[in-house]
Amino acid sequence: MNPLLTLARPEIVALEPYAHAVWEPALERLHANENPWRAPGDNSALGLNRYPEPQPQSLVRRLAALYDVPPERLLVGRGSDEAIDLLVRAFCRAGVDRVLVLPPTFGMYAVAARIQAAAVDELILSPQQGFVPTASAVCGHWRENTKLVFLCSPNNPTGNAYEPATVLQIARELNGRALVVVDEAYLEFAGRKSLAPDQAAHPNLVVLRTLSKAYALAGARCGAVIADPAVIGLLKRIVPPYAIASSTIEAVELALQPPQLAIARARVATLIRERDRLARELGIARGIVRVFPSAANFLLAQFEDAQRAFERLRAAGLLVRDVRRHAGLAGCLRITVGQPEQNDRVLKALEAA
Ligand SMILES: *Cc1c(COP(=O)(O)O)cnc(C)c1O
Repeated sequence: MNPLLTLARPEIVALEPYAHAVWEPALERLHANENPWRAPGDNSALGLNRYPEPQPQSLVRRLAALYDVPPERLLVGRGSDEAIDLLVRAFCRAGVDRVLVLPPTFGMYAVAARIQAAAVDELILSPQQGFVPTASAVCGHWRENTKLVFLCSPNNPTGNAYEPATVLQIARELNGRALVVVDEAYLEFAGRKSLAPDQAAHPNLVVLRTLSKAYALAGARCGAVIADPAVIGLLKRIVPPYAIASSTIEAVELALQPPQLAIARARVATLIRERDRLARELGIARGIVRVFPSAANFLLAQFEDAQRAFERLRAAGLLVRDVRRHAGLAGCLRITVGQPEQNDRVLKALEAA
């Protein structure tokens, strides 16, 4: 058996997956109990009366090209949220297995683990170290039955990215013991290379990518898991058969055409410039203790009086994320970089404070 599968839940490895209706678009579909007419007003290309193609091949190929990986190493899902859930369900036995997370970080890793009744171990990152873990600290937190280690780079909500060499070292040291899952939701804003192309050389490395942020498709719900084909095969057993809605397939195919991609990249560049401007100006604003360096499309800022700042922003019609309850983030708010005039309004509202 592939050694990666020995880490997985045995019942998933043994599972006989649901046999979905075969996908043969050249033939008339009288095999899936669909309605033969479109609903009134359905102008979609694919027809919403039809079940979508499971793991739509053209979409898989397009995303594989976007992320520079072979298609057999990629699974499309409803955003990274689904990917996280699939990984936890495939690898963690309820009441037995564990995941390791590095707070302050994205909350979904721990939530997905708790839903599956997996234990959640924490290695808490400190602001003094720039929220950067060492490989030895991460590996030192591995315990028997730790199946998944979640690394978020750039990390939400702190904004810093980890050194690729550190992540790869963690993957190598934990090979055979755990999957190392790197969530690159904000990678496009980091100005650095993705670890996706390194996956092939690191069997236990899993990379999560999403179209939600840089490609402005949060509402379409589309993301990708990049992993060893054995892991992809396992996740395919538990992903719902028609996970990706036809409307999402169409929206994503359109968004990934060259002219649309060019616009997306230009907007990412604008957001990076705006982030850096906002960071500079917030850095000298009164009432702000510090602005943490960010490689993402948001800024983490520490305020002398975060409650007051939050209320000022709200009174100006601006909602930011209160992250004060996270470990080590007393007095901190997370501000998403908006359009230039929205960012101006943030600065104005805080100056008044
Ligand atoms: C926003 C975000 C995602 C994206 O989730 P989707 O389900 O793809 O929309 C993933 N990971 C992190 C850390 C995020 O902040």
